[in-house]
Amino acid sequence: MKYSKLFLSGLVILAIAGVFVFWSGIKKSVNKTKSEEEIIQEKLAQRTPKQPLKIGFLTDVHAYGKEVAGQWQINWRSREAIERFIQKMNNEFKPDLVIENGDLVDGKDKNSKEDWLIIDKMLQTLKTPYYHVIGNHEMRSFDKATWLQLTGYDKPYYYRDIKGYRIIVLDGNHFPGGKDTGPEKEYYPGVLGNEQWQWLESVLKDAALNDKDPIVFIHQPPISTDAKPNWALFPEGEKLHQLFNKYKVRAVFSGHIERLCDIKDGATEYFVLQGMWKANAGLKKEYRFKDAGNFYYITITPDKVEVKGEYRIFHDKNQSSKKQRQERVKKWETLVLNPQEYNCQDGQRLDPKKRGLSIKEETGDSRAVVSGNSKGTNNKTAVNEREERENNDQEKNKETK
Ligand SMILES: [Zn+2]
Repeated sequence: MKYSKLFLSGLVILAIAGVFVFWSGIKKSVNKTKSEEEIIQEKLAQRTPKQPLKIGFLTDVHAYGKEVAGQWQINWRSREAIERFIQKMNNEFKPDLVIENGDLVDGKDKNSKEDWLIIDKMLQTLKTPYYHVIGNHEMRSFDKATWLQLTGYDKPYYYRDIKGYRIIVLDGNHFPGGKDTGPEKEYYPGVLGNEQWQWLESVLKDAALNDKDPIVFIHQPPISTDAKPNWALFPEGEKLHQLFNKYKVRAVFSGHIERLCDIKDGATEYFVLQGMWKANAGLKKEYRFKDAGNFYYITITPDKVEVKGEYRIFHDKNQSSKKQRQERVKKWETLVLNPQEYNCQDGQRLDPKKRGLSIKEETGDSRAVVSGNSKGTNNKTAVNEREERENNDQEKNKETK
């Protein structure tokens, strides 16, 4: 009897101890979930200042080729701009990496793969690692599998850690369900798809826990501009902003539309940069012409993200002699983006005089007209544009003979 009483009290003590252990276990697991969020926030608040990072950037080259004396060549306007870009990067800027932000080839012809390979071969002469981003023109030129084969990447989205920064490259070429877009249409809004969303969140969380400053590159801009509203460019843009803000992404770089934008939203600065084939960066539309050769020098320091652009000034056909025109097309200008001037709300119709340029208006010259924006100022088709560029090429060839 005595023993069984003792046994019973032992059981009671054991039960109480068991409940205590169980309860503290629950408490611990609740604390653990809480503390992961807390740890992320603490880690983000304690990010260490990184060494400056220099990135060479080109986007929307839209190169196309033709056969010259039995050899396939890309158009001179792309070729000369890329040659200058490579020379500037190798000899002057000396970046830590180079990003080619998509639409490297114009597409719509059977030789897009050859065009792509010609430029990639040129980029191989860079003295720094370079990375490709997939654009919508790649998807209308060849499929994603071919692009992966050309680049040697496993997936069209990936990241690289460089000097304390996490360089994240995204692929916006999906239908809402996550299926890859195809060549049926010219244009689709940017969509990441579920698989990539999950991947992006885990990569950003990991960056926060490991003191890496994220920098994102995506072809389609995830912001609203006066060129196109957010829903037409990137329907999940707002959701993306929240994610980027939460993990303190430093900067996001895009191309794709004919705009220069520098917009701060929360912790993140969004840049949209005009493509190599597009018009003179930042000028009023009547001063623009196609294929200005725009490319960019990006420097990221703990305090700011500086983006400097370089572009060729236009070929002033009506106002100058052939010789002057040849010289002029070789003249390059620079600009520095800032959120005051390049807020993307007024189409960057900057007065060139403000920027110290004296350019006469090229009236009646279709090259000064901008096309492809949502305002319907010009309804030329891509084919017309290409023919126009081919004509310009022929004109240039004649001039240089
Ligand atoms: Zn594009």
